[in-house]
Amino acid sequence: MPWSSRPRDHAAPVVMAGMAVLLALLVFDAAVSGFSEEKRLSVYSGAASYSVPVREQNGAEYVGLLEILEPLGSVSARTDGGLWRLSFNRVDSEFTPGQTRVRVQGKSFDLPANFWLENGHGLVPLSSLPGLMQRFLGTAVNFHETSRRLFIGNVAVHFTAQVNRTNPPTLVMNFTAPVNPMIATEPGKLRMVFTREPLVPPGSQTLTFDSPAIPSATFQESNGAAEIAVNGPVPLFASFSNNGRTITITPAPQSAPNTQALAPPPAVAPGGPAPQVPPGAAPPAAVSSPVQYFVVLDASHGGDERGAALNDQLAEKDVTLAFGLRLRQQLQAHGFSTLVLREGDTTMSLDQRANMTNAAHPAIYICLHATSQGTGIRLYTALLPVGGENQGPFVDWNTAQSGFRAASQTAVSSLATELGKRQIAVRSLFAPLRPLNNIAAAAVAIEIAPPSGKVEDLSSPAYLQLVAESVTAGIEAVRNQLGGAR
Ligand SMILES: [Zn+2]
Repeated sequence: MPWSSRPRDHAAPVVMAGMAVLLALLVFDAAVSGFSEEKRLSVYSGAASYSVPVREQNGAEYVGLLEILEPLGSVSARTDGGLWRLSFNRVDSEFTPGQTRVRVQGKSFDLPANFWLENGHGLVPLSSLPGLMQRFLGTAVNFHETSRRLFIGNVAVHFTAQVNRTNPPTLVMNFTAPVNPMIATEPGKLRMVFTREPLVPPGSQTLTFDSPAIPSATFQESNGAAEIAVNGPVPLFASFSNNGRTITITPAPQSAPNTQALAPPPAVAPGGPAPQVPPGAAPPAAVSSPVQYFVVLDASHGGDERGAALNDQLAEKDVTLAFGLRLRQQLQAHGFSTLVLREGDTTMSLDQRANMTNAAHPAIYICLHATSQGTGIRLYTALLPVGGENQGPFVDWNTAQSGFRAASQTAVSSLATELGKRQIAVRSLFAPLRPLNNIAAAAVAIEIAPPSGKVEDLSSPAYLQLVAESVTAGIEAVRNQLGGAR
């Protein structure tokens, strides 16, 4: 705790079909749609990636020079005797409103169209940017003018895409740096929109794969963003691994019976123990089956968000991480493939956590919190808004949990039983919490308090281990019920 129960501004529908099989996630965030309506320029540099609005002036596209330079260094501007003087780091320049002639570092040259001054904002033609930026920054600049993407220095992110001919096939995309696109699906297509990543096209704009389920993907750039669209006749879903450097795309299962829930963990579980490979044998393909986990563990808080200060030394985010890693180890030892949403001290939004969980398609999601208040364990399940029942094929983002309440209750009862067997005080509660409400799987939050009021015990390996064993036993007891729910 503390819980964040901020309501989501815009409901995002989750497409469901058949026996509560999550097929695909539609996330039309306000940011995405807003981004595409207004003309924008994106700037990518080693220091920052950002975008600025583009305006029309006398039929040409203009951008504010100050706004572009500000994130890149120390910049100041002033008007002086009809001139606009701008200094960036140690480079001085002069611009004259209504004229093309400018001076940068004592050298004169002409812009392709007139400079304009508007409320102290110096506006330069978009097409003048490569030349201007090169002069101000002294580094190579690469400008994709039609899509309005400006690359400063050697920042490009490249990717490779390959379909593994497994059953079902998987499209594995590897990126040279972590990416976090916005993902949306529509019939026949899964779209990934990259706004902050300097992603550059592969050799060809269209990639074709020798796979009927995933025949092709296309790359395109427009309005300060890059987009990869993956085409397929059946709904596709995406999952992330390798700290955001790998995206795996799989066709959604087409029939409800699902035996994978009972299958052994996948050969490669990120962060898990290395797979056993007999000497001389070929290593398993990076992804030999759809990335699917039985358990997703969410170590709440992290990075900038510390959670509760449990005492002077102990932050909640560290306790949830330590417990999450311990619990994963315990679960994996019992044959449950387990994903921990953050494996380090990183900041993640609740929406990111819910998106990643739903994409991983687990049988159960467990969110971890810690508190210095009270003793023992509190187990929470979602308290959904009244009238939040889902009708028909669309499920509201805020009530994605509604179809999984029975499974969540089954899990909580089982966890409570096992904790009780080990003499750990336990209470089961309902709360209108995020992201529990957004999870399309059995979903439980576990809040750990010290066993006897001594806060230091929250970092005691013996205590955390006892709780981890109880939770694992609780999941094991209802394994078949949970596995059948997805
Ligand atoms: Zn918390």
